[in-house]
Amino acid sequence: MLERIPFNRQNLFGPELRYIEDAYLRNKVSGDGFYTHWCQSFLEEKFGFDKVLLTTSGTHAIEMAMLLIDIGPGDEVIMPSYTFVSTANAVVLRGAKPVFIDIRPDTQNIDESLIEQAITTRTKAIMPVHYAGVSCEMDTIMDIAYRHELWVVEDAAQGINARYKEKYLGGIGHLGCYSFHETKNISMGEGGALIINDPSLKARAEIIREKGTNRSKFYRGEVDKYSWVDIGSSFLPSDINAAVLKAQLENLDEIQSKRNQLYERYFESFNDLDPNGIKIPIIPEDVVSNAHMFYLLLDNQEKRDSFIKHMKSKNILVVFHYVPLHTSNFAHQNLDQYHLPRTLGNAQKLVRLPIYYSLQYDEQQRVIDAVHFFLTHN
Ligand SMILES: *Cc1c(COP(=O)(O)O)cnc(C)c1O
Repeated sequence: MLERIPFNRQNLFGPELRYIEDAYLRNKVSGDGFYTHWCQSFLEEKFGFDKVLLTTSGTHAIEMAMLLIDIGPGDEVIMPSYTFVSTANAVVLRGAKPVFIDIRPDTQNIDESLIEQAITTRTKAIMPVHYAGVSCEMDTIMDIAYRHELWVVEDAAQGINARYKEKYLGGIGHLGCYSFHETKNISMGEGGALIINDPSLKARAEIIREKGTNRSKFYRGEVDKYSWVDIGSSFLPSDINAAVLKAQLENLDEIQSKRNQLYERYFESFNDLDPNGIKIPIIPEDVVSNAHMFYLLLDNQEKRDSFIKHMKSKNILVVFHYVPLHTSNFAHQNLDQYHLPRTLGNAQKLVRLPIYYSLQYDEQQRVIDAVHFFLTHN
């Protein structure tokens, strides 16, 4: 039996464990220590962001964003249904209503041409999700938001290092959210970051992350005691986690260049499949992807499912996601009903191929060969 090719693999770059030990030697392993600050400054400088706060997850970054823009009962937030549950849960947790919109045929991102007709007097924000690290049509979305006075919170969980025109994802809306979950380009196990682009939200973001206290100000010596000043929660990761993140961020360019290579090779190998009815990712002009994901769209669900089985028989793990949120049990019981044909269709056809830093050349060749074999025999 050929060796198993997992869907994803973790990679230690070397200094991770030494940095953790160093955090102990510094006698500061809770949050907001040396490593937290290093990572935040790195992201600010590298991507030209005004203010970045590490969080305990991408999910928590989105939840913090909803607290910061005061989403509450009666409010509506526009988003795609084709996304991870956290995008919608953050809204539901505030007692507000996610409003689902269909996706574009090329990028699987929210179809910006359908946003305006979904706006009501209750709409308070738009949450574009940059699927696969490929940007949504942000100029159009920002223009709609400006004209209707709405907040824009980017779910850039998959979008680190990717660009829309000259701007890095997460840095375009009023707030942006990154994830450093183990499945993302940069991993700290569990973790994330909130990017604060609207200066009026900066001070309160620190407070909400520090359990509703002004402890960050206290650490900086700006106040002589800290106390409860607002709502908040424990969204601050430990410096142990941030130590791991530092080692990963130091290798960002290296990780990126490897992922780009793998992406290019898949692209070259499958570029001519369209006549067979197979589609591969399309990246719009003006958009630079971070090679977070490489997916195929097969003819239909039946073919997709037999493809997954075929790959499994070659000991290669490929996966699909997401069950569109508007078709979920939770949505059926608690939310409005939606008719989103493109979301439904593509969710049934899509399958993701392995793409990660430690995927070897010969392993990728096995994946490519197995795909070609399936297509010539089905
Ligand atoms: C991964 C992901 C999240 C959640 O991030 P976590 O760090 O796992 O909490 C949210 N939205 C999208 C689109 C994601 O891909």
